[in-house]
Amino acid sequence: MEILNDVPDYIRDLVPYPPGKPMEELERQYGVKNPIKLASNENSLGPSPEAVERCRKSLDRLNRYPDGSGYYLKESISRRFGAAQENIVLGNGSNELIDFLCRVFVRRGRNAISSRPSFLVYNKMVQITGGENIIVPLRDSTHDLEAISRAVNPETRLIFLDNPNNPMGTVINRSEFDGFLNDLPGHLLVVLDEAYGEFVRPGTETPKGAEYLEKDPRVVTLRTFSKSYGLAGLRVGYGIMDSRIAQLLERVRQPFNVNLPAQEAARGALKDEAHLEKTLENNRREMKRLALELKAMGCRPFESHTNFMLVDTFRDAGEVYEAMLRKGVIIRAMAAYGFPSYIRITIGTPEENQRFLSAFSQVLEKIPVKGG
Ligand SMILES: *Cc1c(COP(=O)(O)O)cnc(C)c1O
Repeated sequence: MEILNDVPDYIRDLVPYPPGKPMEELERQYGVKNPIKLASNENSLGPSPEAVERCRKSLDRLNRYPDGSGYYLKESISRRFGAAQENIVLGNGSNELIDFLCRVFVRRGRNAISSRPSFLVYNKMVQITGGENIIVPLRDSTHDLEAISRAVNPETRLIFLDNPNNPMGTVINRSEFDGFLNDLPGHLLVVLDEAYGEFVRPGTETPKGAEYLEKDPRVVTLRTFSKSYGLAGLRVGYGIMDSRIAQLLERVRQPFNVNLPAQEAARGALKDEAHLEKTLENNRREMKRLALELKAMGCRPFESHTNFMLVDTFRDAGEVYEAMLRKGVIIRAMAAYGFPSYIRITIGTPEENQRFLSAFSQVLEKIPVKGG
């Protein structure tokens, strides 16, 4: 087919995103019964009952298009953050907002800056536009704001900062961030991706994106219902930003990008503060417990401001991953992020974590320590 020769290199070079292994596939391939998934930072406690209730009620109206403006969901979000509706853009997951930002502001000859390791979706969305990715390594496990500042050039349009960072689980310091903003020129936006924002430990000195709405129109905040709110399967996220930027994003948005059950469930989830509190409590308690147990096994866990933990196993993490799969526990090996001996685990329910720990201790005995 002739048309295949006309596809630009930057599209050909894209690598499909490696999703966490679906549980159904594990059952099929390995014959494991009741596998558990601790690979994609979902909420192990499940969705909020109030979200499910609203979602279910909406099913009788599936013959209708959803409200394309997302009026009621935006209203709930705006109440939560004290932002006006005109400052909010809804997306099919916050991934879609990354896509909107790239399509509006990046193109061939322009660039975006992101850290390595950080969320892989930034680079993909930039590449799709034909723009260039400028990659700055983390320093001391967190965003190197000084180096990012130095990497800015006249063609830079976006700076992506996942705060907390995925996969390190670290946050940037608030006063350092303020200094960083001060030094930045006016021709770019700083995207604070707060996918794990709810998990940040109270009292932590880190910027909260929504508070910059009044102070600095260059700050765009992204948030999601996929993690603490337990709605990853429905795909809902949102951005909080200056209304002039919001208007541009609204132009590239498909008219019905967030579906009806998703809008309804998200409204329910926002109301259900008890479920969120339960989620955060489980996370705090279980992360502590997991870290203690993992240390006792001779591994090095990195406690984090998120619902996941990086763990240095001091072994070939690919082998650990495979062996865990056979025991019905899906985790993530971090070689793709440049950490050949690390795994990343999502904090599960107490029962899931127990299963993880007992499978893990068996696996560690079988796999030799590298260089040991
Ligand atoms: C999981 C995650 C997201 C969420 O993406 P959705 O499209 O909202 O599911 C965004 N950013 C980071 C850093 C994440 O880890």
